[in-house]
Amino acid sequence: MEKRSRGGGLRWTFLKLSFLPIFVFTLIVTSFVAGSFARTLRREVENGLEDLNSTVSAAYDMLYPGDYTAVEDETGLYFYKGDHLINDDYAVVDAVKEKTGVEITLSYQNERVVTTLTDEKNNRLVGTKINNVITREVLSSQEGHFYPKVSINGENYFAYYAPLVNSDGTGAGMLFVAKPAKEVDKLVWRSVFPIILAALVVAALTILIVTLFSNRFLQTLIKIEGLLKKTSGGDLAAELEQEVLDREDELGDMGRYVVRMQGSLRDLIELDQLTGLYNRRYVQTKLEKVQKRSLESHVPFCVAIGDIDFFKRVNDTYGHECGDAVLMDVSARMKELMKGRGFAARWGGEEFLLIFESYHLEMAADCLEDLLNVIRSRTITYGDQKVKVTMTFGVVEGSDDLLDHIIRDADEKLYYGKNNGRNQIVR
Ligand code: GH3
Ligand code: MG
Ligand code: MG
Repeated sequence: MEKRSRGGGLRWTFLKLSFLPIFVFTLIVTSFVAGSFARTLRREVENGLEDLNSTVSAAYDMLYPGDYTAVEDETGLYFYKGDHLINDDYAVVDAVKEKTGVEITLSYQNERVVTTLTDEKNNRLVGTKINNVITREVLSSQEGHFYPKVSINGENYFAYYAPLVNSDGTGAGMLFVAKPAKEVDKLVWRSVFPIILAALVVAALTILIVTLFSNRFLQTLIKIEGLLKKTSGGDLAAELEQEVLDREDELGDMGRYVVRMQGSLRDLIELDQLTGLYNRRYVQTKLEKVQKRSLESHVPFCVAIGDIDFFKRVNDTYGHECGDAVLMDVSARMKELMKGRGFAARWGGEEFLLIFESYHLEMAADCLEDLLNVIRSRTITYGDQKVKVTMTFGVVEGSDDLLDHIIRDADEKLYYGKNNGRNQIVR
């Protein structure tokens, strides 16, 4: 069974071809740009927290000079900065929190002593403990550490812990500054979102442009396919839009080739292969049209039949191929003469049918006289052979009679000419 396309397959292929690379490219570029943007932002937050940590630490040093010390008894833990008991002194931390929204905690070792962190009931998380791992890392290294996700009382924080170092170099506790992770995420997301959005818009636009472009390309292909379909179905007069024929690319070539193929097929069907004149089958259809036009317009037409005189002798004397050359030469003369007047066809062997459109009998006979003069005067050369021929014509004016009858009448005139000296026009 003949294979048929499902239709739309190419469109889908084009879409995949454009969509996939754009999608992958957008994904890579966006994740790279958004990722580095997010990293830069986080670093900025980190720097801010680090600065704030130093500021708070410096404020305590300035307000209460001296080391951090702690006294622990059964009544509790008392944390001093110099001589100043800082346990219930929230002035600094609360002021900073109010200004910056950052949570602050001072701890003795891992126990929170002064903090802005509160629980659900708004009680400060004083006395609660800092994660052991963090305590170990910060106090043993004596260096500040960032933790992007520290969970305190069910809330995640983006936190910076720095050791509170005394003059003898020992770490008494830690200073914690942190922003809720949600806030940092929101900040990052808010700056990355426009990048992702822009990337998506650019990707969508690119896909749209590619689709539109490929659509135009496809439309052209579909037009060529349509022409091929009609041509393969036998419609050799089907036309292709000028827009396709004007294209200067391979698609334009394809269109032009199909049109040329139509022409070649038409020639094969309509023309006689040896002489290039219309063949007998085709000229009958043409003649029908001429007759119809003539009857409608009341302008006469003429039909002539011509036959080469003693053609058998040409073949016999000079050979069949030389005979062919004579046929071609005579045909070319007829084609020339009939240009603008009608058309000539090979009726069979060395017989020709000539149709004069919009011609009276006298005018047609005059034309034939000219043609015969040309043929008489020619010397046809084939190799080193030189051949001269004459022709006899019978010509009649057309009518609304059956075409067969009109042709028969012309043929009778030709027959008369053949029997009465040949080399003449009989009307
Ligand atoms: P007349 O003047 O009575 O027409 O004489 P004639 O010799 O032309 O007529 P006849 O019918 O006896 O011969 C026609 C010849 O034309 C016979 C045939 O071999 C030749 N012929 C027909 N078709 C072709 C062709 O395609 N090529 C060649 N070389 N000869 C052809
Ligand atoms: Mg003949
Ligand atoms: Mg003949």
